Amino acid sequence: MKKTALIAMTGLSMMFAACSGGSKTEQAANEDSDFVYEVDAFADLEILRYQVSDFDSLTLQQKEMIYYLSQAAIEGRDILFDQNGRYNLAIRRTLEAIYENYKGDKESNDYKEFEVYLKRVWFSNGIHHHYGEEKFLPKFSEEFFAEQVKALPAEKVPVKDGQTVDEFIAMLTPVMFDPNVMAKKVNQAAGVDIILTSANNYYGEGVTQKEAEAFYTKMRVPNDQTPVSYGLNSRLVKEDGQLVEKVWKVGGLYSSAIERIIGWLEKAKAVAENDKQKDVINKLISFYQSGDLKMFDNYAIAWATDTDSRVDFVNGFTETYGDPLGMKASWESIVNFKNMKATKRTELISSNAQWFEDHSPVDTRFKKKEVKGVSAKVITAAQLGGDCYPATPIGINLPNADWIRKEHGSKSVTIENLMEAYDKAAQHSGFNEEFVWSDVELNSLREYGFITNNLHTDLHEILGHGSGQLLPGISSDAMKEHGSTIEETRADLFGLYYIADAKLVELGIIPNKDAYKAEYYKFMMNGLMTQLTRIEPGKNIEEAHMRNRQLIARWVLEKGKGQLAGGTATDVVELKVRDGKTYVVINDYEKLRGLFGELLAEIQRIKSEGDYKAANNIVNAYAVKVDQKLLKEVLDRYKKLNLKPYKGFVNPVYELVKDKDGKITDIKVTYKEGYVEQMMRYSKEFSSLPTYND
Ligand code: ZN
Repeated sequence: MKKTALIAMTGLSMMFAACSGGSKTEQAANEDSDFVYEVDAFADLEILRYQVSDFDSLTLQQKEMIYYLSQAAIEGRDILFDQNGRYNLAIRRTLEAIYENYKGDKESNDYKEFEVYLKRVWFSNGIHHHYGEEKFLPKFSEEFFAEQVKALPAEKVPVKDGQTVDEFIAMLTPVMFDPNVMAKKVNQAAGVDIILTSANNYYGEGVTQKEAEAFYTKMRVPNDQTPVSYGLNSRLVKEDGQLVEKVWKVGGLYSSAIERIIGWLEKAKAVAENDKQKDVINKLISFYQSGDLKMFDNYAIAWATDTDSRVDFVNGFTETYGDPLGMKASWESIVNFKNMKATKRTELISSNAQWFEDHSPVDTRFKKKEVKGVSAKVITAAQLGGDCYPATPIGINLPNADWIRKEHGSKSVTIENLMEAYDKAAQHSGFNEEFVWSDVELNSLREYGFITNNLHTDLHEILGHGSGQLLPGISSDAMKEHGSTIEETRADLFGLYYIADAKLVELGIIPNKDAYKAEYYKFMMNGLMTQLTRIEPGKNIEEAHMRNRQLIARWVLEKGKGQLAGGTATDVVELKVRDGKTYVVINDYEKLRGLFGELLAEIQRIKSEGDYKAANNIVNAYAVKVDQKLLKEVLDRYKKLNLKPYKGFVNPVYELVKDKDGKITDIKVTYKEGYVEQMMRYSKEFSSLPTYND
């Protein structure tokens, strides 16, 4: 797995981040309850802001480091626009000029649609959808566009050399308005030339897939144990019929932006925390200067092995999702620092791994005699840039080169303050109000939902997957097609069982003995009902994590029937209908924990003994089939909430505080800047590339 990409974060999917990208977080002690997370919303997008909790716990030197790196993170923005499409900078600059010079009716439909389009171009760093890759079309008219361009002062129109304004309009109009021109940024369809049909700017005009593949095949050295990432930092073009790489480096393509990035990196180097970190920055600068991919690997190794510095960053040509051949990397940056409190918590869980193993409800024969928890670092994002902005990952797992990962290791981190912002925004979405049974559960979710959901993920990742053992002679493939579902079920149950354990209160990592109820309710509501928002009518459940959640929820629902004696309820968990709407109601949390423990013991037995037949039975009985009537109800209720499926962030603003002699005394962080303001400011202050980069 590479970087944990953030996909379609709805209120729902937020509650249950995918297994591998789990969140590890805790509310910051200095959290400001008046902090407003929602900034803007348009099309299918919502803009949030995130809080850089604990910034004040950093030393002045660390803060300064973050300041310089945060500036470097914005300097590459133009590079990404140009990588995403050769007309993107021309379009963005034209739209921004119109935005600033517009004298017409701001209430007109054309203008309103113009604003939406500009906001979308900013969000996508170009004219294609950031997630779907397809071109989105302006909903204002071509005439409106032509009129507005003509109304601009001549020097504001970014024409090509020798081009008239009319020719300029004629060049951009089909690029923006014709659905068949540059229709997809990255085309992965079978049976076509995926380079010729992709609109990105990684290959020059007329370069075919076959030519590009042959070019790089020839470059590779057979049996190279330490292969560089060929093609990573260049555009492949045809010059006089010959293929050549135009390298992104000082003196090459994108030089003016890269030089400014280096300028900030030099300042950062001067305040680095230690020699190792200085060395990391030196190597990165040297790579930017030479374009030498061997140097990039040297940098990646130094970066991966610097685990002591509190401040850390990614800055450069990193992920290759934007190239249909998966070689050319888009520019991105994340500046961050270690969250000491949350990291301490994951280390605490990890160091107690043996206790949890010894006390689990599974048969002694299936327990590990010696178990080790894995521990991942938790970080706070301080600045996002390039391909991490405004849409962002929730975790980072780098470097990408397999041989470096194997020989030198990698860093895997979760970004807690971004997860927190998603969670906070989801609390205002109306989602819980729609699906949660009563105020009791709502309040519990508000107070503990975020902490306990993250804690469940911690237990799942740090302990769950590593727990238990197979009996001698049992193959790890014995579960066949149910392998992932059974494994995820096991890890989830381990977490569910222990999140209600007094040990966690004793260790001080859960606030009190009742907090776990928030996660129990959330889990059951999701597994029985709300995860169905991702299923189409008529379909059943295919994805392993979704199967595992329904397996657990449906199993305990059934086994808990009739287990309570007398009183108002007889079932441990039930689905109740009120005013024609279905809700999950939990009548006995302690008994529910007992059922989770029972199922954990059975799932571990199935896995340890390699009992495929039992696995097949339990998956088919509980995990796959969807109650179509309930599905329709859930989809109808969800649709009415009108939630935006994609989210992104504005950055905070960092300011240097100086004394009367010009000496830096502090760095101030503020959260006042809006989406439009920030985009316009970045386009003015951090935009060094020419409009056309050929
Ligand atoms: Zn998992």
